[in-house]
Amino acid sequence: MNNYGNVKNTTHAMGWRMRNLELYRDSNHLCVLLHETEGNEEEGIHSNQYLILHREEGVLLDPGGFGVMPDVLEAMLDYCMPEQIKAIILSHQDPDIVGGLASWLEITQAQVWISRLWTRFIPHYGLPPKAVERLIAIPDEGARFTWNDGTELELLPAHFLHSEGNFHVYDPTSQILFSGDLGAAEMSSAALSPFVDDFPAHVCQIAGFHRRYMVSHRAVAVWRATLGDRPLSMIAPQHGAIYRGRAITDFLAWIDELPCGVDCLQPGGRFLP
Ligand code: FE
Repeated sequence: MNNYGNVKNTTHAMGWRMRNLELYRDSNHLCVLLHETEGNEEEGIHSNQYLILHREEGVLLDPGGFGVMPDVLEAMLDYCMPEQIKAIILSHQDPDIVGGLASWLEITQAQVWISRLWTRFIPHYGLPPKAVERLIAIPDEGARFTWNDGTELELLPAHFLHSEGNFHVYDPTSQILFSGDLGAAEMSSAALSPFVDDFPAHVCQIAGFHRRYMVSHRAVAVWRATLGDRPLSMIAPQHGAIYRGRAITDFLAWIDELPCGVDCLQPGGRFLP
C-alpha cells in the first residue's frame, strides 16, 4: 500500500517542531524528507535532506550542512540507526550538501558517492582519517546503487545543472526523482507548503535561481534526453517544495524553454533578465 504525504511530527527537546514528511511507503521501502524543522534553520538557504530506507538498509541523499546535521540525525533516528546507512549520495559539491559530511562519516560506515570531478575536493571539508577510502567516484555516465535484494537506485547524469559534475537519484520503486538543485526554490521553511500543486503560482520562487545557476539550455535538453520517459510520481529538489501531479509536467515544460546561464551572459557580467 502506498501512502503519499504522511507527516510525522515530533517536538524537539528545545521546543521546535520537527516534521518528517513521508513521500512513499510500502512494506519494504520508505522515502522520507527529514528535518523540515520550524524554528531551527541553518543560516543560509533552507535545505531538504532525504532518507531512503529499503528493508533494513538506508541511503541518505544530500544530508546537508554542518549546522543542520544534529537535527537531521535526530529525525533519521525515527527510522533507522546510523549503522544501517549504507550510502550517502551527493548530487554535487556545495556546502549546503556536504558541510555535515565529516560528522556523518564519524557515526556511519557509509560509502559516499559523488561525481569523479569532486572526489579530490571533498577532503577539504575536513573529513576524518581514511575517509577518502570511502569515497566512490561516480563516472560521468552515471551509476547504480544496488540494495542487498538487488533493487536499485539510478544515479542519473545532470551535469551543469548546476554543477559541472552533477547527478540526480531516480528511485524506480517510488518513481521519485531526487533532483538536487534542479527545481529548487529559494524560500524559507516558514513560507513552505511541502508540495507544489499550482506551478504557475510557484514559478516566481524558482525563476531567478534557475536563470542564473543552471548553466545552459543545452544542459537542460541533454538532461531531459537522459531522463527519457521514466515515470515520475514526484520531483524532489534539495530546496523548497516537492513537485507532484500536474506540477511535474508544468515544471518540465517550463524548464524546457528556459534561457539560462551562459545563454543569458552579457559583456560586463550582466545577465539578460
Ligand atoms: Fe548547489
